[in-house]
Amino acid sequence: LVERMRPFGTTIFATMSALAVKTGAVNLGQGFPDTDGPAEMLDAAAAALRGGFNQYPPGPGLPVLREAVAAHQRRFWGLEYDPDGEVVVTAGATEAIAAAILALCEPGDEVVCFEPYYDSYAASIALARATRRPVTLRPGPDGRYAFDPDQLRAAFGPRTRLVLLNSPHNPTGKVFTRAELQLVADLCQEYGAYAVTDEVYEHLVFDDAGSPHVPLATLPGMRERTLRISSAGKTFSCTGWKVGWASGPAALVSAVLRVKQFLTFVNAGPLQPAVAVALNLPDTYFTGFTTGLQSQRDQLRAGLADAGFTVMQAEGTYFITTDIRPLGGTDGIEFCLALPERSGVVAIPSQVFYDDKDAGRHLIRFAFCKRPEVLTEAITRLNP
Ligand code: PMP
Ligand code: GLN
Repeated sequence: LVERMRPFGTTIFATMSALAVKTGAVNLGQGFPDTDGPAEMLDAAAAALRGGFNQYPPGPGLPVLREAVAAHQRRFWGLEYDPDGEVVVTAGATEAIAAAILALCEPGDEVVCFEPYYDSYAASIALARATRRPVTLRPGPDGRYAFDPDQLRAAFGPRTRLVLLNSPHNPTGKVFTRAELQLVADLCQEYGAYAVTDEVYEHLVFDDAGSPHVPLATLPGMRERTLRISSAGKTFSCTGWKVGWASGPAALVSAVLRVKQFLTFVNAGPLQPAVAVALNLPDTYFTGFTTGLQSQRDQLRAGLADAGFTVMQAEGTYFITTDIRPLGGTDGIEFCLALPERSGVVAIPSQVFYDDKDAGRHLIRFAFCKRPEVLTEAITRLNP
């Protein structure tokens, strides 16, 4: 194994899901729903499998999907992208992120990202031989995560190539406010940096969040320097499909495509028209999806508080984070490794997503994208 990949072991998600299977624990670790997505989408995939969509689709993705991606962004965020040249379909958001970093970063270039960060970020940055410059998110007394603007300013410099921004944010559940995004935008423009935005939770912002979801590309001067990434997995409860996309100015999208064609070449044909159907569903699908997840969040939040955790705000995403210190925990990794035996539940230690281990040591993440009866079972186990 090449040296730059040696620090990366098996992903925490695989490790903790295997532990859940082995111990019979309720798996609130890895973020995947336990119900299927919209019937219209599933029917369309079945029809496409029987309908001649089984050979290589075009490299940038089937036109019907690129058109649906563009229409969806126009409908929800007022963003205009040309489906021919400004949209590329990828193997989930994960491939789009990797291809973007590999396409844009020279060895030694710096990538500013907020920690805790989604685990593929560090690995993709390492593959490109770039350097990550993390800016730390910490929960405040109100349970909302925030960063120190001076640390963000200090993270930018002459080698900054891009900022990799995830909002709504995994694992913290934070939704970046317009003011926070404006600071990111100002710094990108001052330093001539690109922004790569991971918006896979764009439809998961709850009604008590401090801010609605604001795509960074909608801020003045940002569309031309932002590559916007999302995927079907979260919004349509099909994480196993791995259909994602990136949108942005043609120069950025063609750079991604140049790399992507040698990573996966193209992506699963029959799933593409099906995701197009899903993206074109009426607004009621999207609002129902958000309200359903919000009630699951409320259920788990109450149960975790009853169990004695200090529960942080979860403004969006599939996740809620908690402080384990009221339960006598000091180290999240030890706590999560013991939790299946102790309580029959699996969670994820936030620490693994931080470079600053002290900042994340006492925080653990629970996923609430599960059926209410599964959450009830987990809560019962946590409250003996
Ligand atoms: N980014 C974030 C923040 C995520 O939580 C995930 C996990 N779903 C991904 C990217 C990966 O998305 P995909 O499965 O579409 O590759
Ligand atoms: N995005 C999901 C999570 O954060 C799953 C990621 C994965 O398994 N790679 O839990």
